[in-house]
Amino acid sequence: MAESAISPKQFLSDKVRYFTESVIREMTRQAMLYGAINLSQGFPDFPAPAEIKGAAKAAIDADINQYAVTWGAQHLREAIARQMQVWQGITVDPETEITVCCGSTEAIVSTLLAICNSGDEVIVFEPFYENYAPDSIIAGAKPQFVKLRPPQSATGEWTFDERELQSAFRNHTKAIVVNTPNNPTGKVFSRRELELIRDLCVKFNVLAITDEIYEHIFYDGAQHISLASLEGMRDRTITISGLSKSYAVTGWRVGWAVAPPLITNAIRKVHDFLTVGAPAPLQEAGAVALGLPPGYYKELASRYVARRDRLIAILSNAGFHCFLPRGAYYLMTDISAFGFSDDVAFTQHLVKEIGVAAVPGSSFYRDPRDGAQQVRFAFCKKDETLDEAASRLQKLK
Ligand code: PLP
Repeated sequence: MAESAISPKQFLSDKVRYFTESVIREMTRQAMLYGAINLSQGFPDFPAPAEIKGAAKAAIDADINQYAVTWGAQHLREAIARQMQVWQGITVDPETEITVCCGSTEAIVSTLLAICNSGDEVIVFEPFYENYAPDSIIAGAKPQFVKLRPPQSATGEWTFDERELQSAFRNHTKAIVVNTPNNPTGKVFSRRELELIRDLCVKFNVLAITDEIYEHIFYDGAQHISLASLEGMRDRTITISGLSKSYAVTGWRVGWAVAPPLITNAIRKVHDFLTVGAPAPLQEAGAVALGLPPGYYKELASRYVARRDRLIAILSNAGFHCFLPRGAYYLMTDISAFGFSDDVAFTQHLVKEIGVAAVPGSSFYRDPRDGAQQVRFAFCKKDETLDEAASRLQKLK
């Protein structure tokens, strides 16, 4: 075959050399290929609430089918502002402080593109949701990692070393990303931890980007606190959330960034030229979703606690060591008991031979060795799905 005239060095950007495609999304493709039960990617396999599906259909029938205002339909922005007041006591101006994006995924990358210059550093706790590192690189910044250490006891928490965090704040630090409730660990950052982060942000004049996409999914009396609600943080925090997880509509691609007007202006410029806007009829349905009564969120959390406990029992029974999550819908596990050389070999065995897809822990770390004995499972799944996984995992023994 003739040698291709398209050489990577000549034609591809330097940036794309520093990251791979998402391992999480790749595991979903493998689950489909091998007919495995998919406990890898974090999308629910149960139906979205009927009210919001009805609202989406009604919006299409009412011909809300053209571009919405680029930074978001007014109904949705007003609903977001109203709920931030109710849930976190944060007053937000929907005209100047909210940008609706194509999922929180776009909100995060638009934010980083809006605030970062080449050479800036962005602090990220690891293990981390795998988008943050590529997003920082795409924005020209360098991720600077701070370790979360696994709990030492069955009911313990993931913790970080305060001195390690402090020393990550340096001359070129532009922002810190805080994801609470956290994917993949299930950690819910405490008020004390958030206050420490606040003090460092203020001392070093650094912004905070908080990914709060799991804001309604927490357990055991854990409390979700928005960093922006802490004194001194309102003007230096970009709060990111979306419809995907709270309303089981990950395919709708509606999320948002809430930030002070100066930063919102910059995010809106990037967002406009990246995507123009999120799907218009689904934004209308999003306003209806945010208007669901408090009982909806209570039931959401209690159903998730049942799923969490079901999967913990299944995995513990199959020989995994589970780290107890306080929020979000993932279980990080330790696989040392199985004697595999690493997490990738183990998850390949799991998806091909056992018929269950999970995510190799190394994809959440800068150094793959740190996650070599960890694997993440998602439990945003129907009881039948979890039970079928349980029966397949019997073959692991
Ligand atoms: N942030 C975190 C921490 C996630 O786990 C996910 C999806 O798994 C996202 C963001 C993506 O959310 P969205 O569907 O709003 O883009």
